[in-house]
Amino acid sequence: MSVLAARRMPHALLLAGPAGMGKCIFASKLIQALTCEQPQNDGQGCNFCSGCYLQQVGSHPDHIKISPQEGRQGISVDHIRQIHHQLTLSAKKSRFKTAIIYPAEIMTLSAANSLLKVLEEPPGDSVIILITNICSQLPATIRSRCQQLWFIPPPLEEAKIWLQQHVPSTQNLDLISLLRLVGGAPLRALKYIDQSLLSFREQLINDLFFLSKEKITFLDIAQNWLKEDLEEPLYWVLTFAEDMIRIKNKVSTQWLINPDIAHLLQFFSEKIQIDILFSFLKRIEHDLWLWKSQSSVNSQLLLEKLLIDWFLYFNEDYCEYP
Ligand SMILES: [Zn+2]
Repeated sequence: MSVLAARRMPHALLLAGPAGMGKCIFASKLIQALTCEQPQNDGQGCNFCSGCYLQQVGSHPDHIKISPQEGRQGISVDHIRQIHHQLTLSAKKSRFKTAIIYPAEIMTLSAANSLLKVLEEPPGDSVIILITNICSQLPATIRSRCQQLWFIPPPLEEAKIWLQQHVPSTQNLDLISLLRLVGGAPLRALKYIDQSLLSFREQLINDLFFLSKEKITFLDIAQNWLKEDLEEPLYWVLTFAEDMIRIKNKVSTQWLINPDIAHLLQFFSEKIQIDILFSFLKRIEHDLWLWKSQSSVNSQLLLEKLLIDWFLYFNEDYCEYP
């Protein structure tokens, strides 16, 4: 980062947009550039100095990253205190003291209030980067204190070319359909190709269909789904609910996230009122947030409750309220 650019750095940046858009990579590169000892003319880190090396191995003394995702706990006041303490110390190697908070939406309310105080009086030469996939779950007071940078999915054709360059053999893959399924996010599409995650989606669709027909129990399905990262089934059920709302609003099939199962979603959408669908959608969003932020959440119970609701809404005998 050039000195000129560095001087324009805001104290707080909020990187927002869907998963798989490269927000974390961007944040790491930006932090590296800010703490590089010999920044390049294009503003990027040199990749050779000790500052760049320490950032790459995650042990730069002037940087702190709060990302308790793997432990599935929320971001607490103690985490924010750690950040505040770090940012008020004198910089040891670089001009800037930096912090990353990811995913920012799992901050508790008291943590958000604590962070707000830091953002109102930021320590000198400090830069805090908040990263979120669900910006709406961040308090408006926090959002308004940050310079927001939105990561919008590129046009599908552009993303397709990028994928072709990064995946050795994509001849047999319908990349445009895949990109639609993942909301156009290139890195998410790459993950689906690398980990063959689409086969799980197929199983999930079959499970939900057979559940509505009472040919499989919700207990069996929960067992199947628990073998995957819970974010996967929750993401897909969320997109099914979103698509059903689109179908009820007569949105054309080409704008659905799951156009390949439009007929099935049409079938389900006729069994449910739109206000109940909106409640269902909010509830899945809440389940996702709970699962990411509370390590004490019982995943099996959470899934079973979701599947029982699915069964009640969409089974053969369900009738809409008059
Ligand atoms: Zn460097």
